[in-house]
Amino acid sequence: MHIKCDILICGGGLAGLSLLYRAMKLGIWVDQEIIVVDRSDKAVNDKTWSFWNKEDSCFDQLIRHQWPELYFVSHDGTKVALKTGDYTYSRINSIDFYEHVLAYLREFPNITFIQSEISSVSSSGQQCTLQTPEHTYLSTYLFNSVYHQPAPVPGVQYFLQHFKGLRIKVKNSLSRPSEAILMDFRTGQQNGTTFLYVFPMASDELFIEYTLFSKSVLPMEEYERELRKYIHDVLRISDYEILEEEYGVIPMTDHPFQRFEDNIVHIGTAGGDTRASTGYTFTNTQKTIGKILQSFQSEGHPFFKNENIGLKQQLYDATLLNVLAERRYEGHQLFADLFKQAPAYRIFAFLDGETSLLQDLFIMKSLRVWPFLKCFVAAVAHRVTASS
Ligand SMILES: Cc1cc2nc3c(=O)[nH]c(=O)nc-3n(C[C@H](O)[C@H](O)[C@H](O)COP(=O)(O)OP(=O)(O)OC[C@H]3O[C@@H](n4cnc5c(N)ncnc54)[C@H](O)[C@@H]3O)c2cc1C
Repeated sequence: MHIKCDILICGGGLAGLSLLYRAMKLGIWVDQEIIVVDRSDKAVNDKTWSFWNKEDSCFDQLIRHQWPELYFVSHDGTKVALKTGDYTYSRINSIDFYEHVLAYLREFPNITFIQSEISSVSSSGQQCTLQTPEHTYLSTYLFNSVYHQPAPVPGVQYFLQHFKGLRIKVKNSLSRPSEAILMDFRTGQQNGTTFLYVFPMASDELFIEYTLFSKSVLPMEEYERELRKYIHDVLRISDYEILEEEYGVIPMTDHPFQRFEDNIVHIGTAGGDTRASTGYTFTNTQKTIGKILQSFQSEGHPFFKNENIGLKQQLYDATLLNVLAERRYEGHQLFADLFKQAPAYRIFAFLDGETSLLQDLFIMKSLRVWPFLKCFVAAVAHRVTASS
């Protein structure tokens, strides 16, 4: 059976639901027939989104935790208090996001939610097609956030950010419940750039995530063993109860993702909104959605021009991934040099693509020049060859 509509949202996770929620809040798609297809009913807390921000956003009411004090700890144990300036580090539980957004969207008669596996999406000129095992859906525009690992391109780095997190309840109250550690490198580095996030969630609760930047994932027992070791040996906590667990794998790649394919718009990780050098996706996704909606409002179509992660940022990311791949400048040392010398507010702005070339050079001067220069030249050469 063929079902026609104006807009198909393929994947109702962070990107798909954010786009639809923000479009409906703006009132720009109230006269459009919209179908959202996702295999999941989004009834579980499948992840949490942490991000830094300094401006109000439409999801601020969903922020569950914020940390006024952020720290960095290097492999040798040096602790640095980060100068965050106007930025706040915040965290949203995905279940709060799904519940809030879906409750709002389900009130609109022009939106239909379909729970089904998506077999494929395609486009021919002005018509987009979404195939499920049951039906074929046709639309004018299709927003796709279903990510498929891309076929490798020579000269491109395919790192993964993979992590296992535990929310634990400790027996004794935390001595400093406002203090969060963005990166703690006091763990073995034999599997790649490896660190822990440590975020207090209550006076007697901590969220701890064992995180790696490398090209392959580890057996599950290894994340668990390293987490136990860190909690016991470094945090010196022996009496605790596990309340919740999180496992995830995020691509960190300079792969040239395509944003538009005829009337298909790729969004979220599938559209290249995951920052290759950090894995952070939440803020970039919201910025891309802002551009799509602005284009709809002013031009009547979603095809915006300037990417938030532009060519300059893509070259920086490719450079960093190449430096990490070559291992001539170990990741833990690189991040220690960066956070010890450059203020965190500047690094956050840099990672958000909001710094000038002069500010970029100021940040880069905290790093060893040669590995970066060599890899930067290689990244530029690869771009030139790929585009010719
Ligand atoms: C555990 C975890 C924690 C993360 N934490 C952070 C963080 O702290 N900060 C940050 O910035 N980023 C984080 N990320 C990265 C990123 O923000 C998230 O992955 C984010 O959800 C990406 O949004 P998305 O819309 O691209 O993908 P998703 O939110 O994953 O949405 C894609 C949707 O498509 C559906 N789907 C997929 N395949 C199919 C199919 N074949 N058929 C039907 N439906 C399908 C899925 O059910 C899902 O709902 C995290 C990622 C993970 C995995």
